[in-house]
Amino acid sequence: MTEQTKVDMEKIVSLCRRRGFIFPSSEIYGGLSSCWDYGPLGVELKRNIKQAWWQAVIQERDDMVGLDASILMHPQTWEASGHLKGFADALVECKNCHLRWRSDDLEGSNCPTCGGELTEPRQFNLMFKTFMGPIEESANVVYLRPETAQGIFVNFQNVLNTTRKRLPFGIAQMGKAFRNEITTGNFIFRSREFEQMEIEFFVKPGTDKEWFNYWVEERLNWYVKLGIRRENLRLRQHGKEELAHYARECSDIDYLFPMGWAEMEGIANRGDFDLVQHASSSGKSLDYFDNETKEHIIPYIIEPSAGVDRSALAFLCDAYAEEPDKKEIRVLLHLHPTLAPIKVAVLPLSRREPLAKLAKEIYADLRQGWMVSYDDAQSVGRRYRRQDEIGTPFCVTVDFQSLEDEQVTIRDRDTMNQIRVPITELKTTLQAKLKGEELFVLPPGGKIWKEGQNA
Ligand code: ATP
Repeated sequence: MTEQTKVDMEKIVSLCRRRGFIFPSSEIYGGLSSCWDYGPLGVELKRNIKQAWWQAVIQERDDMVGLDASILMHPQTWEASGHLKGFADALVECKNCHLRWRSDDLEGSNCPTCGGELTEPRQFNLMFKTFMGPIEESANVVYLRPETAQGIFVNFQNVLNTTRKRLPFGIAQMGKAFRNEITTGNFIFRSREFEQMEIEFFVKPGTDKEWFNYWVEERLNWYVKLGIRRENLRLRQHGKEELAHYARECSDIDYLFPMGWAEMEGIANRGDFDLVQHASSSGKSLDYFDNETKEHIIPYIIEPSAGVDRSALAFLCDAYAEEPDKKEIRVLLHLHPTLAPIKVAVLPLSRREPLAKLAKEIYADLRQGWMVSYDDAQSVGRRYRRQDEIGTPFCVTVDFQSLEDEQVTIRDRDTMNQIRVPITELKTTLQAKLKGEELFVLPPGGKIWKEGQNA
């Protein structure tokens, strides 16, 4: 993490808090270290990210299916996966203040806080432990999953038998994962409870390299399609010494976060490690009968593993902008319409009847299709700014003339251009604009209303 971007993390944190995207967890009790709560806008953003991922990796593909495995799994899972032994960081503890540090994070040989002497490094497992059932004894220990992937591996045969999928095919799932991280921080970048979106793509050995490259490309393009600037993304291949115990090859998709380049998604070639491990640990066959060669094989696995929270942070950072606006600064989020928490805001110029009635009818109609907000407080200029700041792509303004000509204006967030369209054309027009049609492509009866800042 070296280079700096222009977006300041403080500004993102402050906007998220001010506008209800993200709050510290259990804030009234002083917060809980590195846990976060997604507020009314944050939950929409997150849902939209997950929905866009699900659509791209499952809904629009023939070779993928979904899964939702439970968070608590048989403890043998974690023995077989190597997490009980290998999923640990080497930690040193300060003999004076007892703070713990990841030894590979430290530059000097003393405690960075108090300068005290440090212990020898010790292994510290990152999995959260809990007990299943009423008796708290070692036989009842279970773990909160540190990744969603294992739920897919242990269900490989179930999915194969019930879907009749043939290689190559993949299983995807998203859900919560928990890691008792030692060093946390940078807002939602590294937390102890987070959400993952993981794909396990099963392929014939020998075709793994090709599929690995395919998924790296596919996943990178997904972020670009959803609006992240290509220059803020990079691929970073892991060196041999850095590879996880299960990986033959791994590339990270890094984003240029405010604190520098850091991993947003990892794509790994896991070979046959997981299926071999689980087959041997469970005694159940996890192989695949290849109809062409009439052989039983163990598929290789390509794993694109993304974090919902890290991508949410990247989408927010990339969308954040400040623009001079007359004498003020206009803060806006250029979020892709697919991700924007609110798609349209309906703004009546007055609270008086019958104007309010008409505006509410329009609101009721539009919200059947999208998340729409209704705002009738303060001047229309202020209301536009409020919507800009949360990334609402379009504002629909209902004015007194609307009562006569049965038309309303649509204002575009990014250009501030406006068009005026018949109310009967409003829904289809917004639908087209949300899919990316130019604002000035007009529906029947529509006209260009205002251009840019003079709005
Ligand atoms: P890091 O090196 O940053 O700890 P990792 O390589 O351990 O990450 P993976 O195990 O590859 O991460 O997990 C896949 C994805 O899950 C990551 O790319 C990231 O988006 C997300 N992720 C992992 N750990 C966290 C965390 N503590 N908080 C938020 N997201 C996380």
